[in-house]
Amino acid sequence: MTKSIAIIGAGPAGLMAAEAALQAAGPQAVRIDVYDAMPSVGRKFLLAGKGGLNLTHAESSEAILARYGARRDHIAPLLEAFGPDALRAWAQALGVATFTGSSGRVFPTGMKAAPLLRTWLHRLRAAGVSLHVRHHWTGWNDDGALRFSTPRGERAVHADAMVLALGGGSWPQLGSDGAWAPLLAQRGVAISPLLPSNCGFDSGWSEHFRARFAGTPVKTVVASFTDRQGRTFRQEGEFIVTETGIEGGLVYALSAPLRDEIAAAGAATLYLDLAPGRNTARLLEELAHPRGRRSQSGHIQSRTGLKGVKMGLLRELVPAADFADPARLAAAIKALPLSLLTARPLAEAISSAGGVAFEALDERLMIRSLPGMFCAGEMLDWEAPTGGYLLTACFASGRAAGAGALAWLKSPNQTPRRQRIIRAL
Ligand SMILES: Cc1cc2nc3c(=O)[nH]c(=O)nc-3n(C[C@H](O)[C@H](O)[C@H](O)COP(=O)(O)OP(=O)(O)OC[C@H]3O[C@@H](n4cnc5c(N)ncnc54)[C@H](O)[C@@H]3O)c2cc1C
Repeated sequence: MTKSIAIIGAGPAGLMAAEAALQAAGPQAVRIDVYDAMPSVGRKFLLAGKGGLNLTHAESSEAILARYGARRDHIAPLLEAFGPDALRAWAQALGVATFTGSSGRVFPTGMKAAPLLRTWLHRLRAAGVSLHVRHHWTGWNDDGALRFSTPRGERAVHADAMVLALGGGSWPQLGSDGAWAPLLAQRGVAISPLLPSNCGFDSGWSEHFRARFAGTPVKTVVASFTDRQGRTFRQEGEFIVTETGIEGGLVYALSAPLRDEIAAAGAATLYLDLAPGRNTARLLEELAHPRGRRSQSGHIQSRTGLKGVKMGLLRELVPAADFADPARLAAAIKALPLSLLTARPLAEAISSAGGVAFEALDERLMIRSLPGMFCAGEMLDWEAPTGGYLLTACFASGRAAGAGALAWLKSPNQTPRRQRIIRAL
């Protein structure tokens, strides 16, 4: 009888799992069904393509692995099997060439996800993969069948192996809402709480500052931050003033340690260097010039080159008395303390931290306590900054889980799947 694999979640990880299982099956007949709750597949992937799809990164493999922080050793074998070069070759084989930007980030030539997804889906369907949209997985029936809620009512599906690729909890309107977490936790699977990653922060602007500057980019600053363990993080770049605080590339890069510091200490202080091109001595010299008949602001602007939102930040965050003290003002321009009070909610974040613990999985990403059930993608407990590292690990883990599911089907002397699942339940 033909064996079957059910893959739930049709984002990059789930679709890659389908492809890997198909390839590993070779001429052997395997039925592969991919289910997704949404009316169409790959919605977050498509959204990622709106701002320019950053598929992966061209830096050295050691540098890439360092981006996964504490999960480095779990991600390493996945990227060894299907890393950035393999991903680029895979895209190329789909007719989508890639290029490396000046920052080392790798993009498809058209910058969009849609052409890649379109061709990929066509190839998967042509190879026999069945896609089922509007199938919302809600858990298991008593007999171990997967339970889906569909527009035509409840549906039960039996499969010989399964891959869960349900995403994290950010942007839930695109389908990945993290509702799987309690379902797996009830089955005894270790799960770290889903937390915002690559997120913005609230800082509590004054009404005056918010009204004038919300939405304004702050260009070329250096932000630094030291956590309670004395570790210092530093990032050069840009951020955006929001209604309630800050967000953007520079903030995302520091978001994991900032989030953890706020959770541990109640707040975190980010120091902004508003004039990275000038040292404190030079600023002091400039600010100490007599200001003559110029206004205080006019004097500061002409002597330091700071204007617009950077002047606004100074006015917002520096005590008025310090403006008359060149030494204090110069020090503030080089290290302006911005207190961050809360991370923005998970729903607004680019990605999630937390998820299924690697300790709950074997090396093929199978849940040890639910034999035959594999996990992949952002629902696993890892995080990384933006820069293509998210998709890179999603594709690589999808590949490992899909190949793992197929290898599981091929392995001899197994208790029939249904009996095992019922026992595990
Ligand atoms: C605005 C934005 C821009 C981004 N840009 C980039 C970028 O340029 N580069 C990069 O590397 N990363 C980027 N990312 C992150 C990247 O898109 C995600 O990390 C990636 O899509 C996660 O892939 P996944 O397959 O694990 O999960 P998802 O893409 O989230 O897919 C999960 C799928 O599972 C389905 N699902 C969930 N629950 C159920 C259920 N109960 N039943 C059935 N189906 C279910 C969902 O509908 C969804 O289709 C961006 C994210 C955002 C929000």
